[in-house]
Amino acid sequence: MKELVFATNNPHKLDEIREITNGKLRILGLNDINCHEEIEETGSTLEENALIKARFVKEKYGYNCFADDTGLEVDALEGAPGVYSARYAGEGCSFADNMNKLLAALQGIEHRTAQFRTVIALVLNGKEYLFDGVIKGTIIEDKRGNTGFGYDPIFMPDGYDETFAELGNEVKNNISHRALAMKKLVDFLLKY
Ligand code: IMP
Repeated sequence: MKELVFATNNPHKLDEIREITNGKLRILGLNDINCHEEIEETGSTLEENALIKARFVKEKYGYNCFADDTGLEVDALEGAPGVYSARYAGEGCSFADNMNKLLAALQGIEHRTAQFRTVIALVLNGKEYLFDGVIKGTIIEDKRGNTGFGYDPIFMPDGYDETFAELGNEVKNNISHRALAMKKLVDFLLKY
């Protein structure tokens, strides 16, 4: 069975990919390979950051590896917060701080389309591959719903009249940016 590292310690992401691979691949997290270092995301694009993490694990620990990076790209803000989504309102800020800053930036703006985009970088047997997943939607004016994380309460995907935080994880994890990118990665790996 193919063994690969997913450069994350987030148990939800590990569960999600293991569910999609359905036991056909052995996916290890960073804890499983005793990597407890903070991998600095110094890139200026999602692609660069995903590659930095995947290359780091390959070079230092020798494993084939993939890594992900996600951003919320708001059209009226020329793609911001994008690669800076996690720390949009500053280092150490909360999800609420980020949402409040975004709602303030969009105050009075009618054109509120946005997309979540996940990029996955794979370093496999000396070659590098990129996969992406995009979901388009709208930033609503007030927070709605309690599930999920990040910007979920203010993001309403196209074709739905509830936010990600109202739709719940089961629906979200079927249609999300991350799920789409992960499915592309898994399709590639199973055919490889
Ligand atoms: P990461 O690359 O998965 O760590 O995501 C970076 C940031 O994007 C997170 O800290 C969240 O603010 C935001 N984000 C990523 N995925 C989601 C999502 O599924 N819903 C809401 N926000 C997200």
